[in-house]
Order: sequence, then C-alpha cells, then structure tokens
Amino acid sequence: MAQQIDQDGDQQVDTEFIDDVTDADAREKAYRERGTSRPITVVGNPVLHKECKNVTEFDDELAKLVDDMFASQRTAEGVGLAANQIGVDLKVFVYDCMDDQGVRHVGAVCNPVLDELPAARRVLDDSNEGCLSVPGAYAELARPDYAVVRGQDLKGNDIAVEGTGYFARCLQHETDHLYGYLYIDRLSKRDRKDVLKQMAEGTPRYPVVAND
Ligand code: ZN
Repeated sequence: MAQQIDQDGDQQVDTEFIDDVTDADAREKAYRERGTSRPITVVGNPVLHKECKNVTEFDDELAKLVDDMFASQRTAEGVGLAANQIGVDLKVFVYDCMDDQGVRHVGAVCNPVLDELPAARRVLDDSNEGCLSVPGAYAELARPDYAVVRGQDLKGNDIAVEGTGYFARCLQHETDHLYGYLYIDRLSKRDRKDVLKQMAEGTPRYPVVAND
C-alpha cells in the first residue's frame, strides 16, 4: 500500500500495488515454457508506430500471447516487451526487470496508463536506454525515476504497478510502445541519428522481422 495524492493534490486515496516480486523466477519460467519465441519487429515496421488496440477479451488467446511474449523476451534477453514488438496490435506488455534495490519484478499489464506524477516525485534520471526493436543501439534519455502504471491483469482485474529506478524506466518505455512511440522518438535529432547509425552498423543477436 502507498499513499497517492489525487489530481486535486489534497485528498489522499490508497492504492494497492500488485505483488509482482513473489515467485518471480518460477512465474517467468512457467510463462516462457508454455510459450513460443517469435521474431522481434524493428523500427520502421508500421505496427510499432501507431497506437495499439485495447485489450477487451481476457481469454485463453490473450494468455497464449503473453506466454509467447515471455518466451520472446527471454530469447532476446529483454527486460520488457510490448505486443507490437512481436507484431500483435494489442495493448499488453510484459516485464522481467530489476528495480533500484535489485529486486526482480515479473508481470504483464493490459491497457496501461501512466499516472501523472506530482512535481515532487518527478526526479529525472538520465541513464542509458535501449530497445529490442532498435537492436544494438543505446542512448541516454532523461525519464522520471519513479512510475505508477494502471491497467488490467490477464483476467481483466484492475491493477496498479509501481516501479523505481530501471524498472520505472521500463514501465514508461513499454507503455510508450503501446501508444506507437519508441524511445528514439524522445531523443534529440542528433541523438536519434546516432542511435540509428549504431543500429545500422550492428547485427541483431536475436531473430527480427525484416522490414520491406
Ligand atoms: Zn522497446
């Protein structure tokens, strides 16, 4: 539980965050062992550059998609993966990421929306960021070092996820994906050009979907 200041800034409401830490290892293993790894879409593929559709059916097909996403995330050695990164136009992302205390978080969020942070919580961190859909490239990008994302779990229950440090960056990065934005869209023109050059000079270490 944590205290959250609402939009008026005066009333406080309690937010119950999900426990995405307990049995993280076993849960991640179960997902990926049920799933099949799929190739990763890369910058330029239209599915990455438009807002995905809302998840409305919380069924076996969604569960199977999430299994495949965990399998794909593991193959590509990612800490987060959005559905459009395996070519699926649906608002769901998965994560397997450490927070600023070195604690591992594993979970999936449908229809994510980030909380607007009160000014006092907006402490920017300018660590390096990369993306499986921009293989072999990294750039510094300032983002808040704390994030809360709200959405639904795979059964359609409302959930809230809280992240610090690198995990906060991950929650923001994956939510961006589902609205059609890559981290390179947040870079200066010069940094973006440099990142695309890094990508062009390298070879992905995992299967990718070739662009036409
Ligand atoms: Zn990404």
